[in-house]
Amino acid sequence: MNINASDGLSLQDRWVAASGGAVPTSGADVGRKALWAIRELGLPAIVKTCLSCRSDHHHPSGKFRVNANGKLLDVWLLMHCDRCGRTSKIPIHERISVRELENSRLMMFENNDPATVRELVLDASLASKAMYRLDWTDTWTLETHEPFYTLDDPEPINIIVSFELPASIRLERILMLGFGVSRSQLRSVVASGRVLLPVDLDSKVRDDFTLTVTGTESAGDILDGQGKITTFRYDADAN
Ligand SMILES: [Zn+2]
Repeated sequence: MNINASDGLSLQDRWVAASGGAVPTSGADVGRKALWAIRELGLPAIVKTCLSCRSDHHHPSGKFRVNANGKLLDVWLLMHCDRCGRTSKIPIHERISVRELENSRLMMFENNDPATVRELVLDASLASKAMYRLDWTDTWTLETHEPFYTLDDPEPINIIVSFELPASIRLERILMLGFGVSRSQLRSVVASGRVLLPVDLDSKVRDDFTLTVTGTESAGDILDGQGKITTFRYDADAN
């Protein structure tokens, strides 16, 4: 079963979504833009200790269990231990009145709807409530598009990074992949002040953001300028 929902958006659609609805124009004041996309490869692992083998990585089975007791319902999301296969349950609804649950939602649970599985696995508040964390290893890949950009380019550029899934990724990792440079090369360019970042390199990001790389020609202006340039946008409140 495929539990990786793709919304089928084109790059242009994503660009519009990432820029708040306005399609960037190629006017001189806008400069060049590039779009990098964090593409979804799979769902994250659910990290919780297995009662049988004490391993801690699980993946969703793709199924729900719905139990009706009179007018009360329990709904669980089922997951399998990666090592021993034991099935465990994540409570979604406990002893909820049938009337409180929309029928369409109940049907999603009863039909093991893949989009609903995905929605709940990616739900950070559910993870917090049920006391597990998510491991995003191998769940994403970075896709970069024209115009291809290298860090020694003389022209400035805005890079819009859009997320197809709310993977929590160190900013440094995204930039090393996107620019195709080593950690030390990246650190050196960032230290020069040419890359204007929404958060520091060690921080994790999970929402769309834009970063600016000043061209090599304007690097002197930036270094001689009065402190930080804050033209980037970071949607820290999106989740
Ligand atoms: Zn196990």
